[in-house]
Amino acid sequence: MNHYIDVILAIPLENMFTYSITKAESQFLKVGMRVSVPFGKTKIHTGLVGAIHTNPPLIYDAKEIHQILDEKPIVTSKQLEFWQWIAKYYMCTVGEVMRAALPNAFILESETLISRNLKKEIKDTDLKDDEYLVFEALHHQSSLKIQEVSSILDKKNVLPVIKRLIEKEVILLQEEIYDKYKPKYVRYVKLKAEYTSEVGLHQLLNDLSRAEKQKQVVMTLFSIAAKTKKPVKVKDLVEESGSSPAIVKTLINKGFFEDYHIQTDRVQYEGEDNEATKALNAYQIEALKQIKTSFETQNVTLLHGITSSGKTEVYVKLIESVLAEGRQVLYLLPEIALTTQLVTRLQNYFGDQVAVFHSKYSAHERVEVYNHVLGNSAKAKIILGARSSIFLPFHDLGLIIVDEEHEQSFKQFDPAPRYHARDAAIVLAHLHQAKTVLGSATPSLESYNNAVENKYGLVEINRRYNNVQLPDIELVDIAEKYKKKRMKGHFSDRMIEEITEALDEGYQVILFQNRRGYSPIVECNICGHSPECPNCDVSLTYHQFRKQLRCHYCGHTNAMLLKCMACGTSNLDTKGFGTEQIESEAKTLFPKAKVARMDLDTTRGKYGYEKIITALEQQEIDILVGTQMLTKGLDFRNVKLVGVMNADNLLNFPDFRAHERSFQLMLQVSGRAGRTKKQGKVLIQTYNPYHKILQQVSINDYLGMFKEQLQERRDFKYPPFYRLIKITLKHRDYNKVETASDWFAKSLRQVFKANVLGPEFPGVSRVRNQYLKNILIKIPQQQSLGKTKEAIKKINTSFEAIGPFKGVRVILNVDNY
Ligand code: ADP
Ligand code: ZN
Repeated sequence: MNHYIDVILAIPLENMFTYSITKAESQFLKVGMRVSVPFGKTKIHTGLVGAIHTNPPLIYDAKEIHQILDEKPIVTSKQLEFWQWIAKYYMCTVGEVMRAALPNAFILESETLISRNLKKEIKDTDLKDDEYLVFEALHHQSSLKIQEVSSILDKKNVLPVIKRLIEKEVILLQEEIYDKYKPKYVRYVKLKAEYTSEVGLHQLLNDLSRAEKQKQVVMTLFSIAAKTKKPVKVKDLVEESGSSPAIVKTLINKGFFEDYHIQTDRVQYEGEDNEATKALNAYQIEALKQIKTSFETQNVTLLHGITSSGKTEVYVKLIESVLAEGRQVLYLLPEIALTTQLVTRLQNYFGDQVAVFHSKYSAHERVEVYNHVLGNSAKAKIILGARSSIFLPFHDLGLIIVDEEHEQSFKQFDPAPRYHARDAAIVLAHLHQAKTVLGSATPSLESYNNAVENKYGLVEINRRYNNVQLPDIELVDIAEKYKKKRMKGHFSDRMIEEITEALDEGYQVILFQNRRGYSPIVECNICGHSPECPNCDVSLTYHQFRKQLRCHYCGHTNAMLLKCMACGTSNLDTKGFGTEQIESEAKTLFPKAKVARMDLDTTRGKYGYEKIITALEQQEIDILVGTQMLTKGLDFRNVKLVGVMNADNLLNFPDFRAHERSFQLMLQVSGRAGRTKKQGKVLIQTYNPYHKILQQVSINDYLGMFKEQLQERRDFKYPPFYRLIKITLKHRDYNKVETASDWFAKSLRQVFKANVLGPEFPGVSRVRNQYLKNILIKIPQQQSLGKTKEAIKKINTSFEAIGPFKGVRVILNVDNY
């Protein structure tokens, strides 16, 4: 009898691939272990064993595997089941899910790395567009994998481009197999056993009587060890004894010391002893009770509590009781809210049972957390993480908390799997027979509707903790202010008055502007030309600080122009405004205040974000200008005033969710104000003070917003009444995209009739030199989702077989939030 395994490869293949194994291997291998296998021509791939059996493949001869990579499974059967669900629901392959689910370091490959040939002078003009993109990327990164090149150019077959770049001597190649994860070792040192007794030590010190420095080191080692009763790091010994690594080395060479390693965690908790969790107030106690009651009949409960009502402390109590049952907890947060503030808060309560999973952590750190969760370690009972943490190898989940559940960043847009972490979390919880709490001050329409329809439990807290008042929200009509000349730059007189007052009283101010950079458009006053990105159909944003024009879609930059590129005059003007401009105006208007900015440009790097938050907490900042980064779960005690510089560009965003989102964003950012002694204040500048969303924001009328928006969704056939699948077609040839998308839409219409919208160019119709066209399918509640997806797949398969459409990428996005 022959033995086989089916293997999942981390590439978009529809099927698992079958390989033959020996009998001995079949006895050793288990589902969830990794193997290295040949695939394609010569490439070595990492595969994951999905099944072990004795049925030979029908179509091809099974190749042999190269190597078994694990001794134990690294993926559990529950994970595999979850991957299958994700792949099916979000219409992608299990291999794509695997790529997202496993830390990169787990997927070993014979990967071709390319790097820049520094010996060759390259002129931009020598390169074609696609060559230039690769060349440019190599300025930011010393080497690139083929796969990365593929995503930069957004096409699969990039070898021709790479070949050309080699011929032009622009790049160099290297091929290597490597395991990216290397545990971090710390070097420790101790006395050899024979010197640890009193007699032995005496003897040693005697022997060293003429080597004063070495003697000093021995005595220091002895005293640190006695004092701390812990292993002594070489580094600490050198520091404390004021010696050098060379002297320690001499002592090791002489056989007096020995050095050794202990594997330690990079992500380590170094806090104090655990703090007791807080006693809840009456409203929190009631909410906790209601959540527990609703869990008797519901798997999911929505906690709708206004900002600062103390939701986190309620979660903490829930976590406590799940831990007491010995089960794990997953606490999901939008990436950006994963600040030290919440991490510290939970660590104070739960010590090193808290593990954090964050995209800003290194590959090494992610592997560490993964392994702790896999081992059901005491160090990973509570996982605090962003969306991708749903893919961790949980052993026995008892509870998932999705905090800020309305946040759009829970949905992954690119690449596949295009999953929504909140929705997938509910499925994950189900696999573990765990409960889910969704929490928000401004729930998504979907979740609130599910609660209203009794699919979820609903629990509300309508009071801020300690009865702190909600801030007073005032709308400022800037059309009128401009008319009456009461504007200084983009600041109305009301804004200036309130800022002045808050600063005089020693409070802090937050100013919100939903655009980064100085100004989104540069325009010539003479001929009207405005510079656009060479790769995208969008105008370049002016960044004053770096004196650059930048594309926010592809990252293209060039120096700010001194003259108009079209007519050559130097009469250039800027239109619209971003955070940089507000920052610079604030500095001029309030010269004594310390002004800082928080947006994508100022928060790059591992601790960029934390530094600003800390500065604000420590009151080193008086006025903080920022984008929606400001809105996420921050607890700013001394902020009295929040200013929204322009509400209109939020409201006018062309998306059916724009109104819901504006409401959420404005209430969330308002929630940052007024945890102070005096009531907080929010000023919203707008050209449309009578806009119903702004009216609802101003009186904190969530229910009013919900009802009205729900009616619009019903009228215009949008979620939660209809599900959406968005199909995007992409190619660098405009005509190809046109004909391909027409064909696709026509085929869809034969099945789905009037529920097909488009094809339509999106607002920015070309990105990274690729034209985009969207088709939207609306799926009524009574229509089977499974059958709908089948039909789409079938059309897609026919599409792929049509010669002239070759190379057109089709992107399927289910539940396009
Ligand atoms: P939310 O998550 O609803 O925005 P938080 O849980 O962050 O609210 O609570 C707001 C503030 O009130 C925090 O500073 C928190 O420490 C404090 N707080 C909440 N509940 C309690 C409690 N039971 N005892 C003491 N302080 C509390
Ligand atoms: Zn661009």
